[in-house]
Amino acid sequence: MTEAPYAKPLPRVTPDNKPFFDGLRAGALRLPRCAACDRFYFPPGPVCPFCFSEMLEWSATSGRGTVSSWVVVHKAWFPAFQDDVPYNVVQVELEEGPRLTSNIVDIDPDVLRIGLAVEAVYDAVTPDMTLLRFRRTG
Ligand code: ZN
Repeated sequence: MTEAPYAKPLPRVTPDNKPFFDGLRAGALRLPRCAACDRFYFPPGPVCPFCFSEMLEWSATSGRGTVSSWVVVHKAWFPAFQDDVPYNVVQVELEEGPRLTSNIVDIDPDVLRIGLAVEAVYDAVTPDMTLLRFRRTG
């Protein structure tokens, strides 16, 4: 059965974050960037968190970055999951953009370390929802 892993509610798509989720579905990491101070930020909002400008532009980024921290998460923390299948959640300092948090896939936990080079991957969890993950580059 493939329904169990996503039995928990998926993120809610709103007018503010729709360009982000549309980008993921197209296999691209698009982030809000302030046209006034030229900085990326996340999550998207009505104003830039640095300068309060409303001049938001959505810009594609490389999706590459380095791990700045990580933690092992046990799914048993969530009532929706019955089995404890630990997975690794990383915070990634993007080359272009802010830090983003998601899980990292296809990696032996023993090689996970701060500074590890990673890239965004796009996981179509349902026909309507694609989520961001990270994978080691190279
Ligand atoms: Zn700004």
